[in-house]
Amino acid sequence: EVRVRFAPSPTGMFHVGGARTALFNWALAEQSGGRFVLRIEDTDASRNRPEWTEGIISALDWIGINGTNPAFEGPYFQSAYEPQHREAVAKLLADGRAYYCDCTREALVARTGSEHRGYDGFCRERGLTEGAVRFRTPDDGVTIVHDLIRGDVEFPNEAQEDFVIARTDGSPLYVLANAVDDITQNITHVVRGEEHLGNAAKQMLLWPALGATPPVWAHLPVIVNEQRKKLSKRRDKVALESYREEGYLAEAMVNYLMLLGWGPGNDREIMPWSEMVPLFRLEDVNSASAFFDEKKLRAFNGEYIRALPLETFEERCAPYLDPTWDRERFSKVASLAQTRISVLSEIRQNVDFLFLDEPVFDQASWDKAMKNAPEEILTGYLQRLESVSWDPESLKQALEEVGAAHGLKLGKAQAPVRVAVTGRTVGLPLFESIEVLGRERAQDRIRSALT
Ligand code: GLU
Repeated sequence: EVRVRFAPSPTGMFHVGGARTALFNWALAEQSGGRFVLRIEDTDASRNRPEWTEGIISALDWIGINGTNPAFEGPYFQSAYEPQHREAVAKLLADGRAYYCDCTREALVARTGSEHRGYDGFCRERGLTEGAVRFRTPDDGVTIVHDLIRGDVEFPNEAQEDFVIARTDGSPLYVLANAVDDITQNITHVVRGEEHLGNAAKQMLLWPALGATPPVWAHLPVIVNEQRKKLSKRRDKVALESYREEGYLAEAMVNYLMLLGWGPGNDREIMPWSEMVPLFRLEDVNSASAFFDEKKLRAFNGEYIRALPLETFEERCAPYLDPTWDRERFSKVASLAQTRISVLSEIRQNVDFLFLDEPVFDQASWDKAMKNAPEEILTGYLQRLESVSWDPESLKQALEEVGAAHGLKLGKAQAPVRVAVTGRTVGLPLFESIEVLGRERAQDRIRSALT
């Protein structure tokens, strides 16, 4: 049985990179009828916060990774397994695979003459009974991490120092705890970020020392921004939650994240989760870094928005609209807006003019529109609005005629009318907008723009 795990540390907002790792694992579990274990690695008490843990769980839930699917197992909390981690350290000590060490950093530097040289094995045969605990690594040969994405990655053992697995106070280190949990939870495939490849070299030694056969490894490529720099909290918008708040649909997000290092082939990109799952293969994941292209994500999201049934679209928009705004009036323009927005939060600026007493008036746009059109366009149209028949086609024709009388094409004549009525230079189709706004309010707005 395939048992994968996702093992985030709750030390910050949940990152799009974490979501990608989780989804790749989730796809493996689902396609094989296996299990996906969620393990919260909360052993760094100084950096953990309960709200980060809640954030992880709710973000995973949002992208469809939750207990409603029987493949989901957990969450487990690493901190609860400290006794097992200590037991493992004790076993390695008892088996002679690890030893106590009381060397200070200064002493080590004095001996090796360098700040950067690894541990020199000084305490290996000293038979100490307290101190930090170091794992005894082989002195020659190579450790090979068989990675499904990267192939065989070789780590010469002479470069691998006897690394610390427990501190002087007895608390186990991450690299050990992580391996012990994977062993205890019968994990068969470790699929995680590339930054853990060095840990895998250590864990390739730890697993057999703890009596277990190492898992299948797969280290996912880093995700980079437009400058080809690794996506970072400081530089980039990385929190899954911010995308959710802005009005990205979970389906679009999932689809896009799956393409960061993988693709279903045949140039296909937009594809629902259920179709991707059976196609997903770790062997097909690219080892080159993956570009997180926010523009492309936006385009995906726009496609997913347009594919929503109109009624669903209206529901999804509701959180971005003022609750006092009349839903029926919104419904009249919803389908026009649906084809125009890429993220749901954009709905507000597209329709607010219909509900506000005064549109959000942009003076600069007004000045610009008026530069290319005489005031008579507006006064002339105002007059026509008095009696014109109230449908988009007639409204358009009336403006065309007013424009023609002043030698203006519709595009130029339209600009000041649009700003006067909606406050903005771009938005929903103008004549439908005027229709929904109503005769009196349309006239009021043109009048007040003129004063
Ligand atoms: N807790 C580690 C992290 O957040 C994950 C380690 C792993 O997947 O093995 O990066």
